[in-house]
Amino acid sequence: MSTTRDYYEILGISKDATESEIKKAYRKLAMQYHPDKNKEADAEGKFKEISEAYAVLSDTEKREQYDRFGHAGIDGRYSQEDIFRNADFGGFEDLGDILGGIFGGFGGFGGGQRRQGPSRGSDLRYDLTVTLEQAAQGVDTTINVPRAENCESCGGTGAKAGTKPKRCPTCQGAGQVTHARNTPFGRFMSTTTCNSCHGQGEIIEDPCPACKGTGKIKKVRKISVKVPKGADNGIRLKIRGEGEEGSPGAPSGDLYVVIHVEPHDKFQRVGDDILYEQPISFSMAALGGDVMVPTLHGNVKMSIKPGTQTHSILRLKGKGMPHLHGNSQGDQLVRIIVKTPTKLTGEQKELLKKFQILEGGSDMKGPKGGKGIFEKMKSAFETGM
Ligand SMILES: [Zn+2]
Ligand SMILES: [Zn+2]
Repeated sequence: MSTTRDYYEILGISKDATESEIKKAYRKLAMQYHPDKNKEADAEGKFKEISEAYAVLSDTEKREQYDRFGHAGIDGRYSQEDIFRNADFGGFEDLGDILGGIFGGFGGFGGGQRRQGPSRGSDLRYDLTVTLEQAAQGVDTTINVPRAENCESCGGTGAKAGTKPKRCPTCQGAGQVTHARNTPFGRFMSTTTCNSCHGQGEIIEDPCPACKGTGKIKKVRKISVKVPKGADNGIRLKIRGEGEEGSPGAPSGDLYVVIHVEPHDKFQRVGDDILYEQPISFSMAALGGDVMVPTLHGNVKMSIKPGTQTHSILRLKGKGMPHLHGNSQGDQLVRIIVKTPTKLTGEQKELLKKFQILEGGSDMKGPKGGKGIFEKMKSAFETGM
């Protein structure tokens, strides 16, 4: 059940908003309505709506489709679930950081609250663009993924080698302090993040010089990715354990590789089928013949029947995209475009004039030698007047 509200309205921006305005509006609303933060009953619904609007408007191609066709222009494959999850780890430095800040991420970088005990590394997202040919055949590739790893010098503690982080004396390691306040209405308790340790529960007196006390170091890792045959726009490949490294003793996050398939200049993909337009001469349309048609699987000879009309669609069985899960293959649908010649030689003109005379005698007449279509129209006008 996708939203039907206007995406621009949801984000509170104008139709000509720039990319950065869209991002800014999204960040603000995402912070406000994130279900981990906002406990109002409809916060999750709102958050999904905001995320859906952002997923579409932040994607140039999707935005264009939306601007032209509205909600109908956005295909159903962009499910709520996908958008929700995508939004959760959306994009390396920027969004990941703000959401990391909300969730706590790992101590030190996001500056958020640290959960008790060692925390699992954050998930990462990597956007990988492949050509339609690569998506059809499947491809093995290597990507470079920057991620945070535990600092080797300090073992991830952030304290200089030979020293240890000290338990915070203010909060006794809890990371939070509780205040009691007496008011005319009664005694109120409130819990806030500890100011001395910024919620870490411990204090590093001697920071590790290698990681500046964060315990983490950014490293670029080479990761092999196997893009499966039939991969489509927006599918996500999960690579376990290749996200950010967890704090010492905790598991690493996962890496999600999101596939983007480049638009092709000849072929248009619709599910597992490929659409292709094949121009033919008008003499071939009338007389029939063979044409070589390019497909994702090489050139294929296709027979044109005599009397083929423009825009008729011929099917090349099994020449489309392989189905992502399973062994079936889509088809290539070839739409015939009959080209009317624009430059004729004198001889061609002569022949066509002859043809026209002959045509007048046979082809334009209706069945059983009745009146031709033009005569019929003409007499219909005359009787009407
Ligand atoms: Zn403290
Ligand atoms: Zn260090």
